Amino acid sequence: MLETKLAEQDWMTEVRAMVGREYGRVYAWDEVNAPMIRQWCEIMGVENPLYTDAAYAATTEYGAIVAPPAMLQAWCLEGLHPNNYPPGSTDENPYEVLRLMEGQGYQSVVAVNSDLTFERYVKVGEKLYYTTRLDSVGEQKTTALGTGYFVTLIMSFFSEKPGGDEGGGDERVGELLFRVFKFRPANAQPAATPEADAAPAAPKIKRPKPGMSDDTRFFWEGAAAGKLLIQRCKCCGTLRHPPGPVCTKCHSFEWDTVESAGQGSIYSFVVMHYPEVPPFDYPNPVGLIELDEGVRLIAGLVGVKRNEIAIGQRVQVEFQSFDDGELTLPLFRPVAP
Ligand code: ZN
Repeated sequence: MLETKLAEQDWMTEVRAMVGREYGRVYAWDEVNAPMIRQWCEIMGVENPLYTDAAYAATTEYGAIVAPPAMLQAWCLEGLHPNNYPPGSTDENPYEVLRLMEGQGYQSVVAVNSDLTFERYVKVGEKLYYTTRLDSVGEQKTTALGTGYFVTLIMSFFSEKPGGDEGGGDERVGELLFRVFKFRPANAQPAATPEADAAPAAPKIKRPKPGMSDDTRFFWEGAAAGKLLIQRCKCCGTLRHPPGPVCTKCHSFEWDTVESAGQGSIYSFVVMHYPEVPPFDYPNPVGLIELDEGVRLIAGLVGVKRNEIAIGQRVQVEFQSFDDGELTLPLFRPVAP
């Protein structure tokens, strides 16, 4: 079989020839609009009325609601499905240089820095697009991660003007610099062929460990022993969960525990779909369980189909061990009423 790998010098010449290349427009699905601004502010905890209060914004020098500058990139994102851009957007791949480097064994990537620069606020009603330029590919560097190259891309954002174009009427409103380090991991073998570009096997991701303190240790040690323990006030007998240092009823610090029978009902639930975070299985149903003893706790649901979960469904605890016994969790499985 013909060896197709180029000598390193040759392929780097090809990479360097790409520097400065401009990639076509990626359009925004929607014009700058108040609902997206409001939702973004809500999620990010931004309370500036210039972004959300039309009456207030009308009294400012802008005259109307503007979008938070940090939101710039959000306008031209593809949405839930990868590479789903509006009609008219380029089908060029601005990351082709990264693919080329992957073919030469530089398979790993780590984001290094990202700088947003703003020319001005964008207003409701503006239609944005961006173009991408391969700004630079650095000299070969060896870091603790491995040997590779810093690659810098710059996305320039424009506001469309009627009859305008990028050089003339369309107005530049900001840019996003994005730099990655594309490298061959320190312990990796060079790729034999350009096809051998599969990412190296990642270490198995473990379940996040619960925060443990003197107040909560009994709960997790109980779980490890297959017992569902509830904290009980020694003074007035009130049960409480999640565990805490003091009884909210009588303010006593004295407590012991009682073992729950592990039976209860679903008080509420959510089914997590997206984003899929390893190592969890998806869809991932999580219940707020009301135990028959009277306290509620949050736990994973097992043995349920999404459409079959219902408020009031009777459940029974079972214990499952994860990560070679490092963590035992109480989970709840539906049972007949
Ligand atoms: Zn008490």
